[in-house]
Amino acid sequence: MLLIECPYCGTRDESEFTYGGEAHIVRPLDPDALNDVEWADYLFFRKNSKGILQEQWNHSAGCRRWFCAERDTVTYKFKSFYKVGERPVEDEA
Ligand SMILES: [Zn+2]
Repeated sequence: MLLIECPYCGTRDESEFTYGGEAHIVRPLDPDALNDVEWADYLFFRKNSKGILQEQWNHSAGCRRWFCAERDTVTYKFKSFYKVGERPVEDEA
């Protein structure tokens, strides 16, 4: 069972959540200035990286709020959870 920590409600089962894809994708300020390749890159292409990925999640069967999480795509383990508009806490090394 995968447990997810909603920043508003606390830890819940993954069945209460909906995955929203990669986080921190910024909409271009002037979409009309982009060519088709740049627009397609914004709409469709994501990092799909191996390792730590910042993701959006929705607590769809709970408070219905969006939040972000850092998850390792290899182990599926979550590293941190944080509210939209915030940034993940960096590890102190
Ligand atoms: Zn919640």
